Amino acid sequence: MKKHVGTLLVFFAAALTVSAQSPKRLLAIFAHPDDEQTVAPLLVKSVEDGVEVTLVIATDGRLGVNEYTDYEAGDGLAAIRREELKCAAETLGVKLIHLNYHDQLRAAEGYDGHIPHVRSLLKEITEIVTRVQPDAIVTWGPDGASNHMDHRLIGATVTQVFTSRNWGKDVQLYFFGIPSDILPSEEAVMLRGIDRSLLNTQVAFEPRHLDAAYEALRCHASQYPSYMVDKMKKERQALEQKVFLRQFIAPKATKNSLF
Ligand SMILES: [Zn+2]
Repeated sequence: MKKHVGTLLVFFAAALTVSAQSPKRLLAIFAHPDDEQTVAPLLVKSVEDGVEVTLVIATDGRLGVNEYTDYEAGDGLAAIRREELKCAAETLGVKLIHLNYHDQLRAAEGYDGHIPHVRSLLKEITEIVTRVQPDAIVTWGPDGASNHMDHRLIGATVTQVFTSRNWGKDVQLYFFGIPSDILPSEEAVMLRGIDRSLLNTQVAFEPRHLDAAYEALRCHASQYPSYMVDKMKKERQALEQKVFLRQFIAPKATKNSLF
């Protein structure tokens, strides 16, 4: 009987140790509703692995008109995209923080229109990182994949927040990247390629992660009609089943010369 109690105690101690280990936390910070698609298989896989994933989308997507649909830019489209983003986050199984900044952060209004929003965004992202205490952050790289000004601004904002202080824990920053060698032309490489040797983090995913990612993309019906989602999924299936990232590597020591 005594031995039995001992075994039980060991069992409970082990169970407590497991539950005391808090899950890893991942913050994915992007510009527009639907940008999350870029890393969606990774988000799905992370959720499956027990990671707490929080998706932060900065803008309201009010200017997101394209050749596939005939929505008009403005408040109506922003309202539609808010709901589409909720649907996508739910499908991916991630928590959502939608900051609802005006698309392009009012860049069309020049310095006085734009900069207060840029500063407010820096403050809000700092608050989110402070509150969530992530183990990893994923965002846009300097290419912004499509060179979109909002993508590049978000990547720069997150980098500024990350490098502004010692966060006091082991938190890693990753930039999404497209390997230069899969791009179709020299110009594409110049505009948005990252040399494969710099993409030091390559996370493989399974077909089920890709399936869930493209189910989530169907939520963004104002951007992609169903036939486009099917087409994009086929194109993605033809590529390596990996999400490529470039980790921001902090120096281990301070040097006293450039070379
Ligand atoms: Zn975007």
